[in-house]
Amino acid sequence: MKKRIFSGAQPTGRLHIGNYLGALKNWVALQEEYESLYCIVNLHALTLPQDPAELRQKTLDLARIYLAAGVDPEISTIFIQSDVAEHAELTWVMSCIARMGELERMTQFKEKSKGTGERAGAGIFNYPLLMAADILLYHTDLVPVGLDQKQHLELTRDLAIRFNRDYGETFTVPEPYIPPVGAKIMSLAEPAKKMSKSDANIAGSIFLLDDADTITTKLKRAVTDSGTEIRFDESRPAINNLLTIYGLLTGKTNAESEAHFEGKGYGHFKTELAEVVVESLRPFQEKVNEYDEPRLEEILTKGAAKAHGIASATLRTVYERLGINWAR
Ligand code: ATP
Ligand code: MG
Repeated sequence: MKKRIFSGAQPTGRLHIGNYLGALKNWVALQEEYESLYCIVNLHALTLPQDPAELRQKTLDLARIYLAAGVDPEISTIFIQSDVAEHAELTWVMSCIARMGELERMTQFKEKSKGTGERAGAGIFNYPLLMAADILLYHTDLVPVGLDQKQHLELTRDLAIRFNRDYGETFTVPEPYIPPVGAKIMSLAEPAKKMSKSDANIAGSIFLLDDADTITTKLKRAVTDSGTEIRFDESRPAINNLLTIYGLLTGKTNAESEAHFEGKGYGHFKTELAEVVVESLRPFQEKVNEYDEPRLEEILTKGAAKAHGIASATLRTVYERLGINWAR
């Protein structure tokens, strides 16, 4: 039997190359070796205010992005989180297993609720519990994610271990899959922050659907550090980030990238990087409108049915273990 993968992204905005290099690219690379479920986590999106009509549109757009990136609906399961009610149900169980202190320690909660004090959304606080439910429902072995989700995955593991200890072996304890390079692509505008869909400063992100002129302008304006050489240097996060993107898209090693730009300045480097990014995104951009709405609906309906079959069996076991399986 193949081992299983679960992962997802939020339909909160336009996907950027950080999402692609940190997560999606690996979903595609791993989908043949593993049985894979890729979810559009629209319940997670509700943790921050969303316009309903836009959220509906972004949810379908995200399915298109998964497909254009190379997720194959014939071998992977693509589905919308809210189509499988068990995600919300198991989240409640997780909230009764987890402790306030564990959630308070989560850096994503601290960052996303910064400055809001008592008005911070309870959804942002509970976000990792929904994520734990997502993963544990499917007896997931491997979760390919970016570095920012490592802490949430550790909590997921802790919750699975705790439940198994208290109620008997029920959940598979998942492993993270965090790529050695590209797990944290930084903002072009503020290289100390990760590139994020929900960042109000769009100059910091290269979106997967940006056109060539926009990509070139954003890269030309990308913040650089002091120093003029185009080489990796721990003390220069901006150039490290740009060279990381270059290396991942060209397949060059760090040494090869450095040798390639030896004696060249930032202007030359940024122009060449822009060409590489534009060319790398071209096939993806050509594919993104290949799927019309009826075909998307078909893929998502089939995906939800497959996911529901697994999730409902897991939840039934969980409810039996807890002694609350009356209606099932
Ligand atoms: P939001 O700002 O709405 O949280 P996001 O950019 O963080 O958006 P998510 O949908 O939360 O995107 O995450 C989808 C996947 O992309 C996750 O696996 C996450 O770890 C990964 N990811 C997000 N940002 C980056 C980044 N800058 N570099 C690498 N991977 C990333
Ligand atoms: Mg995020």
